[in-house]
Amino acid sequence: MKNSLDTIPGVGEKAIEALKRLNIYSPNDLLFHFPSNVINKKIYQPIFSLNIGDLVVLKVKIIAIDQPSSSYSSKRRAFRIYCENETGKLQLLYFSYYPNYLLKWAKVGSEVLTIGKIDVFNSIKQIAHPEVLNCDNLHNKVDESEVIYPLTYALLNKQLRKYIHFTLEQQQIPNEWISSDLIIKYNWKSFLECLKNIHQPKNNKEIDLYSNERQRIAYDELLATQLMVNLLRHYKNKQLGRAIISSGKLYKEFINNLPFELTNEQQKAIEDIIKDQNSNNKMSRLLQGDVGSGKTVVAIAAILNAVESNSQAVLMAPTDVLANQHNLTLEKFLFNLPIKFALLTGKTKPKIRAKIMEDLANGKIQILIGTHAVFQDKVEFKDLALVVIDEQHRFGVEQRLSLVNKGNNPDLLIMSATPIPRSLSLVLYGDMDVTRISEKPKSRIPIKTSIMPTSKLNSVVDSLKNILESRGKIYWICPLVSEPDEPEPENTKVAAETRMKSLANIYPNIVGLVHGKLDNKLKQDNLMKFANGDFKILVATTVVEVGVDVPDATVIIIENAESFGLSQLHQLRGRVGRGDKASHCILLYKSPISNTSWQRLKIIKDTEDGFVLAEEDLKLRGGGDLSGTKQSGVPDFKSVDFVAHHHLISAAHKQAKDILAKDATLSLDESKKYHDLLKIFGFNYKSLDW
Ligand code: ADP
Ligand code: MG
Repeated sequence: MKNSLDTIPGVGEKAIEALKRLNIYSPNDLLFHFPSNVINKKIYQPIFSLNIGDLVVLKVKIIAIDQPSSSYSSKRRAFRIYCENETGKLQLLYFSYYPNYLLKWAKVGSEVLTIGKIDVFNSIKQIAHPEVLNCDNLHNKVDESEVIYPLTYALLNKQLRKYIHFTLEQQQIPNEWISSDLIIKYNWKSFLECLKNIHQPKNNKEIDLYSNERQRIAYDELLATQLMVNLLRHYKNKQLGRAIISSGKLYKEFINNLPFELTNEQQKAIEDIIKDQNSNNKMSRLLQGDVGSGKTVVAIAAILNAVESNSQAVLMAPTDVLANQHNLTLEKFLFNLPIKFALLTGKTKPKIRAKIMEDLANGKIQILIGTHAVFQDKVEFKDLALVVIDEQHRFGVEQRLSLVNKGNNPDLLIMSATPIPRSLSLVLYGDMDVTRISEKPKSRIPIKTSIMPTSKLNSVVDSLKNILESRGKIYWICPLVSEPDEPEPENTKVAAETRMKSLANIYPNIVGLVHGKLDNKLKQDNLMKFANGDFKILVATTVVEVGVDVPDATVIIIENAESFGLSQLHQLRGRVGRGDKASHCILLYKSPISNTSWQRLKIIKDTEDGFVLAEEDLKLRGGGDLSGTKQSGVPDFKSVDFVAHHHLISAAHKQAKDILAKDATLSLDESKKYHDLLKIFGFNYKSLDW
C-alpha cells in the first residue's frame, strides 16, 4: 500500500494539515489513531445535569445565531449558535469555520442532534466544534453507537472515521509475528482483527487500554521498537568507527581553566567518552543527567578532544534559544583557546550562512553549534568526527536511525535532561551505552518549593520586592503567550503578555518578556538583558524550559502550575538553584484543582530528584492519559501506554533477542514478516545498509 495520505479518497490539503496536528503523517499512523470514546446515541441526558468534560448527544432546537459580521473578526470571534430544549440551554461554538458550511444547517427554528464535549463558561453550557446531525433524516441512525476519535479543528469525526476505515480495508493480512507461546498465553487475536475491533468497538471496554486488543497492539509496537533498537546496536558494532588521535592536552587545559572542580561523575563521564572516542568503535552514548548536573561541560570536553585531532564537531540543540545559549557558553569557556566555532540557526542571515558553510567545508570552523533543523539541511563538513545532540526527548529511534550513515562515521553523544524510569531505558536506548550523572555539583543548595492558590497572587507579587532588594532575579512562567480575543471555553490560563504588563506597572523598567512568538532577535536581547541584569524579572512561557542558564536567578514562579506536566515543572524549576544562593520555586495553582493535579504538585514539592519524579509521573498518570507520555519525556509511541502495558516490555525484549539470535540482520525469507512489522510502526529498516 502506498504510504501517503493523499491516496485516501477525500483527503486533500486541508485534511492533511489537520491530520498533521494529530501527529498523523501516513496511512499507517491512521491505524493507530484510536477512538477515545464510544457513545450510544440513544442517551439524551438532561442539559441541566451535565458537567465539564461530559461527552454527550443532545437533541436541541436552534433559537438564535450570532455570526460575526466582518471577515476580519470572523477569524477571531466565535460563530455562536444558541440552542435549547426542555431540559436547558446550550451554546454551540465554532472558532475556525466555514460560514457557508455552518449556515447550511444552522437555521433558527430547526432541530439538530449535536455531539461533543461539554464546557461550562460563565455558567453557560457550551460545546465547541460539535458534530451536528440534521434531525430530519435521523430515525435510522439514532440507534447506532458512535465511535469518537480525538479531533482537531477543520476535521470532523465522521471524516476521520472514513479515512481510518478505508485504510483498514486496504490492509493485507500479515503473517503472525508474535511467538505462538505468547499468543496462547494471552489469548490474542490477530493483528488486523485487533485493529478492526478497536476501530469498530461495541462498547467502551474494547477501546480501553487494558483490553485484549490494545494489549496486543502495544506488544506489537514494543516488539518493533525492540527489534529496531537491537538491529541498530548490531549495525553500529559492525561498522568500523574512527579512532580519535589526540594527546588530550586541549580538553585537559579547558578543564583546568574551569572556575570549579568537576564532580566525580562528570570526570567518570568524560573518561568513558574519551575512551570511546579513542577506540576504533563508533561511539553511541547517552549522557543522562538532571538539569544542572553539568552535562554541557562534559560535552565540551568531548568536543575539544575531537577538535584536537584536526577534525570537526557539531553541537545540536532543539531550539534557537538553546543553540544561542550553547554559543554563549562556548564563548565563555573557550575564549583563550585557539578554537573557531560558529552558530547556525534557521534565523542566520544568508550571507553569514554562506560564509559559515564555506568555512565548514574547508575546515576553518572546528565547531558548529546549531539547531536540529539546520543539521537536517545539507551541511557539508570537511571531516565531522563528533555529533552532540542536546535534549534528546524530541529525538527518537527513527531520528537516531537517520543519523547512522551520516558523514565520516562520526561518534554520537546524546545529552538528555529527561530522566526516564529504568524500565524504559531498555526499550528506548537498548542501542546505546548509557552514562548517568546523578550527583549535582557540591555547591548546589536545594531549591525550596511552595504550593499556593492564585488567590495569594498579590502577596506573591509584593514579596518580589524583598527578592529584588537582595539582588535576586526572578522568572515568572505563564502557560500562554497572549490572551485569546475571545477565550475558548476551557481557557482560564494566564497569558505572559498580560502578566508582563501587570508586573511592569508595579516594577517599571525591569520586567522583560520572552515567548515563542517573539522575533528571535528580540527574544535573544531580552534573555541577554535578563542575564546581564538590565531586567530583574523575566516573564516567559516554557521557551525557557530547557537550557537557559542565568545562575543568579533565585526565584521561579509558575502560574497555572496544574496545567504543566511533572517533567515540565521539574525542568522549569531547574532554571533556578544554579548559583551559590538559596533558591525558591512557587507553584501557583488555580482552584478548584483535581486530586491528581494536587498530588502532582505535592510530588514536585517533595523531591528534586528527576529520576524519582519520572517514576512517580508514571505511577500517577494511570491509564487513559495518552498525552502524559509526552509529559514524562518519553518519545512518542503510537499505542503503548507505559502504565497499562508495562508488563509486556520484558517479553518483547526477549522475543526480539530470540529473533535476532537466529537471524541477526533479518535477511532470511522467514524474517520478512518482521520487516512488515517494522514498517507498520514507521521504522525504516532499509536505512540499515548491511
Ligand atoms: P546541564 O546541561 O546538565 O543542565 P549545565 O552543564 O548547563 O547543566 O551546568 C549548569 C551550571 O553549572 C553551569 O553554569 C555550569 O557552568 C555549572 N557547573 C557545571 N559543572 C559544575 C561543577 N562541577 N561545579 C560547579 N558548577 C558546575
Ligand atoms: Mg544543558
